[in-house]
Amino acid sequence: MTPDTFTNALLDWFETNRRDLPWRRTYDPYHVWVSEIMAQQTQMDRVVPYFERWVKRFPDVPALSQAQEDEVLKLWEGLGYYSRARNLLRAAREIAEVHDGRFPEDPVAIRALPGIGEYTAGAIASIAFNRPVPCIDANVMRVFARLENLGFEAGSKELREQAEQCVRRFMPEDSPREFNQALMELGALVCSRKAECDLCPVQPRCAAHRENIVFERPLPKPGKNVIRIEMATGILVHDGRILIQKRKPDDLWPGLWEFPGGCLEEGETPEQALRREYMEETELSVEPGEKIAVVKYAYTKYRVTMHCYLCKAVGEVAPVFHEAAEGRFVRPQELSNYAYPAGHRKLLERIHDDLRLSSILNI
Ligand code: SF4
Repeated sequence: MTPDTFTNALLDWFETNRRDLPWRRTYDPYHVWVSEIMAQQTQMDRVVPYFERWVKRFPDVPALSQAQEDEVLKLWEGLGYYSRARNLLRAAREIAEVHDGRFPEDPVAIRALPGIGEYTAGAIASIAFNRPVPCIDANVMRVFARLENLGFEAGSKELREQAEQCVRRFMPEDSPREFNQALMELGALVCSRKAECDLCPVQPRCAAHRENIVFERPLPKPGKNVIRIEMATGILVHDGRILIQKRKPDDLWPGLWEFPGGCLEEGETPEQALRREYMEETELSVEPGEKIAVVKYAYTKYRVTMHCYLCKAVGEVAPVFHEAAEGRFVRPQELSNYAYPAGHRKLLERIHDDLRLSSILNI
């Protein structure tokens, strides 16, 4: 297969096999940008409904630039990695101020916007503006690791550099938009972890297939150290309202809301940790009651087990928030108006699914 034959085979395959994604219907730079940010760390089929809700509420950069952060976070809720949503808002405000509300076309100007790294700048420049800029994601690295039999670790700098050289070598001048998308689509749909080589349009030039080492390319990453954490959290009900607090701007998950609580210290039971955390965080003295759930979730290398209780206040109820930007008692029906990190959102879902609890709490 010559470079031209390879590129044509790939582009023909893309033409008939590409997924019909909403941002591919217009290639509007705002749509491409939002979809690329949403697709980081998230499966494409999960992105589509979020994307559609988002562009319905914020149809363009000027609309997003005028949004309130709380509403932006609420629309993002469930996608995780909330800094992506905050950066979309910051970047929209910057585009409105610095670029008169028009998405910049120059890859250097795109890269300078908040939340946009090398890959995303390349994706926007090539997909929205058809500029000949490589965009190297995990799919593209995997495809070239196999096609060219590159013996580097998945995600390594060496593999990224080699994949970028390959993209520059094969990219046709007149269709960088289709070429970059075709490579990523091939990695997502055919040259995935399980590698469906029988369906592959470029199998005749694939070195790993020829040498029967498809599953050894790229080389696996060394294992990550997993850290396990035990936490306790309490839903404090007072006068028919529930206490929530907002995380500080410099905290993990800034701007999201939660029920007070925290990590168990050595030798502590969850109930003891909950009493201590409430006192430290809010100056409230509370008594844990019924244990209502054990919620498990993960982020980066952490695996969290969160013990969740109903609790009531002992003595005066005048919280002073030491570990939060602000806090408030809200009516149970209002809880769903706020955005929460994964663990607390899971807890709320459990309560909603449990008829007895949801009627106790009047949610
Ligand atoms: Fe990937 Fe198999 Fe195609 Fe090679 S032949 S590029 S390993 S799907």
